[in-house]
Amino acid sequence: MMNRLNEDQIRIHDLEVYCNHGVYPEETFLGQKFLVDVILYTNTRPAGLSDQLEDSVNYGAVCQFIEEEMKCQNDKLLEKVAERISRGILKEFPLIKAVDFEIKKPWAPVMRHIEYASIKIFRERHHAYIGLGSNMGNREEYLRNAIKAIDSIEDTSIIKEASFIETEPYGYTDQDPFMNTVVCVETLKEPLELLHILQKIELDAGRTREIHWGPRTLDLDILLFDQQILTTPELVVPHPEIEKRMFVLESLCEIAPYEVHPLLQKRFLTLKENLETN
Ligand code: ATP
Ligand code: CA
Ligand code: CA
Repeated sequence: MMNRLNEDQIRIHDLEVYCNHGVYPEETFLGQKFLVDVILYTNTRPAGLSDQLEDSVNYGAVCQFIEEEMKCQNDKLLEKVAERISRGILKEFPLIKAVDFEIKKPWAPVMRHIEYASIKIFRERHHAYIGLGSNMGNREEYLRNAIKAIDSIEDTSIIKEASFIETEPYGYTDQDPFMNTVVCVETLKEPLELLHILQKIELDAGRTREIHWGPRTLDLDILLFDQQILTTPELVVPHPEIEKRMFVLESLCEIAPYEVHPLLQKRFLTLKENLETN
């Protein structure tokens, strides 16, 4: 998660909405009062200089959006309401980079007096770099179809694409040359969610896992996910081989030469130069 402490904010405090979320039949039947607090992270400077509303986020429109979304569907859990509406806000208002969303239930039926129970979440837009490779069949077509499939992932769009480059096989060298590329996506998915969707796209392209680093119709690797460092059994990010693979660095340098590797703290351009001189 990026440090957003010093970023500009637009705040909405205790927006009151009467609606019917809850687990109990009385709640869905009678409805109750909810209070919503949001912090919208956005750069207010353009509007600060121009004094024009179109340079900023219209908080009236955000209030209206929240109210409509709260009323249009009954969810059982506050968790669900918070998740659904934060995601809606990020999709609806492109200038908002991240959102703190708190939903309070002052009349929560807990059989004792409380001021309120609430759920508070933070959601933000992510940027991920995905490495694509193919060395079986029509390699270009596998890559082109994968790019289309990635672009149609829910809440995800491709914002940059490197050219296709042909590369000699890496690791296990007794196989045909690869076609490789890298794309950058903006996404609301979390890293493991993205990995699982990419694995599904690999399977749909007829990918099988026989030899490690062996021939494959399609290989999709998460190279970078924001500046996050993740070490789980399923997912290691940044991808541990970036700095050793010229084809990855070449593609990364085509679309993001000045992006920084979060562990090595060096730009991709520098990593590529280092690998060239080794
Ligand atoms: P390499 O990851 O060295 O390029 P590979 O792509 O041939 O090798 P695969 O057989 O495609 O390896 O993947 C093996 C496992 O790697 C996957 O099941 C996945 O859980 C795991 N994995 C770990 N980190 C990542 C990552 N950043 N991107 C994709 N898969 C990853
Ligand atoms: Ca790989
Ligand atoms: Ca892989």
